[in-house]
Amino acid sequence: MTELNNSLIHQSAAALSAKLIAREVSAVEVTQAHLDRIADVDGQVNAFLHVNAEEALAVASDVDAIRAAGGEAAAGLHDLAGVPIAVKDLIVTVGQPTTAGSKILEGWHSPYDATVIRKLRAAKMPILGKTNLDEFAMGSSTEHSAYGPTRNPWDLDRIPGGSGGGSAAAVAAFEAPLALGTDTGGSIRQPGAVTGTVGMKPTYGAVSRYGAIAMASSLDQIGPVSRTVLDSALLQEVVGGHDPYDSTSLSDPFDNLVTAARTGNVAGMKIGIIKELHGEGYQAGVENRFNESLELLREAGAEIVEVSCPNFQYALGAYYLIMPSEVSSNLAKFDGVRYGLRVLPKDGPMTIERVMGATRAAGFGDEVKRRIILGTYALSAGYYDAYYGSAQKVRTLIQRDFDAAFAQADVLISPTSPTTAFKLGEKLDDPLAMYLNDVATIPANMAGIPGLSLPGGLADEDGLPVGIQLLAPARQDARVYRVGSVLESLLEEKWGGPLLAQAPVLGSSSTIAGGSK
Ligand code: GLN
Repeated sequence: MTELNNSLIHQSAAALSAKLIAREVSAVEVTQAHLDRIADVDGQVNAFLHVNAEEALAVASDVDAIRAAGGEAAAGLHDLAGVPIAVKDLIVTVGQPTTAGSKILEGWHSPYDATVIRKLRAAKMPILGKTNLDEFAMGSSTEHSAYGPTRNPWDLDRIPGGSGGGSAAAVAAFEAPLALGTDTGGSIRQPGAVTGTVGMKPTYGAVSRYGAIAMASSLDQIGPVSRTVLDSALLQEVVGGHDPYDSTSLSDPFDNLVTAARTGNVAGMKIGIIKELHGEGYQAGVENRFNESLELLREAGAEIVEVSCPNFQYALGAYYLIMPSEVSSNLAKFDGVRYGLRVLPKDGPMTIERVMGATRAAGFGDEVKRRIILGTYALSAGYYDAYYGSAQKVRTLIQRDFDAAFAQADVLISPTSPTTAFKLGEKLDDPLAMYLNDVATIPANMAGIPGLSLPGGLADEDGLPVGIQLLAPARQDARVYRVGSVLESLLEEKWGGPLLAQAPVLGSSSTIAGGSK
């Protein structure tokens, strides 16, 4: 790897944008550096299911031509024009396959672009490719992908989190400065936590879901993955905003995110520790890093208070009724007729039901089947009130807990995940143990509020990244960016640079592991 490439892949998106605008580097050089990095390390990491080199370079060279010509067209370019990005393979893209990590969509191409993809294209951000995920975004480790697991760049024998492990690992391994993920119960934030990257789940409706293959529509949210808090804010401003194609899309402008990330200050703010989301059941090293962050925020002038959200103890249970119920309905469309795979029954009559059955039996993995069965059961006539109905009541109670907590604090804080990255295979045969990774992230989806995870340091016992989660009331995304950027700079001051500078060096010839801002 050349020195230039090596320096380019370690830059933040904000730094790349400044260099591109100043024409110190070309968009083709930046894009090629990342494609070279993917070629160098993705055999180890398996973050990408598809690499889109030709189209990414074409977009980059278009940006370079416009900048070289100058004038109005160059002035009209978006600041992130020429900054490459990776996209979770749950988001549909014209010209590239979309698999959702499933055999049932192997080789399928969408006839239309998701709204977020349209926005990336309008901003002329080269799309490097599609990243690996748990099948249909169901999982916490990316081991449920039909295309093999992604590995954690910090330790290749460990999981990168899930379901968006591919996006997080791509950003952590310097294969992309930015990525898009989706978060239904934590799939942006938990992979962020265990890979030492930043992940943001925006307010429900802040970013259009049009073209994100639905897992559980009332919980799903697209959001940014990055190495800095500012970069996530920059990306959310590109992809966010009202979309007439998504009836749940908000009309709020959400245009103050970058300003909030740049002008962070926590003096006088009240930050609430959620009593139920730390302590017992959380790894000691996670707890230590969490306490350290609290101390830094206190020193910076924030008032730390404790809040209680007693109904959070039922959040996981309610989520595993509401989510599968919506899954069972959303995944009914994969019927062997309209999309992707079609498997014909081996013998017997060729009825549509039997083709559907054979296709779904062969095309879906075990975790997806488990959730479809669970959801179908929970929604069935005799059990609807006992299961789905009760879970919806719990959802309301969780929202009320948040309302009460935000009456006492501007922002809430917790560890993002109870543990650091576990070993591949460790929880694969124990669905409950897998589900427990999301205890701290699920409440935000149940209430539709924004949540950011940022690196909080390395756990003492295993030297692996710990994530800190910040939560704000719905529509107050700017607030988590503001507090997040303050905490990030306090922590980086302490570490003497970004946390990822301490990650092991991957690839054949990378000389520095860490990044500069
Ligand atoms: N890990 C959680 C689950 O398995 C969350 C998934 C997600 O956010 N897409 O459902």
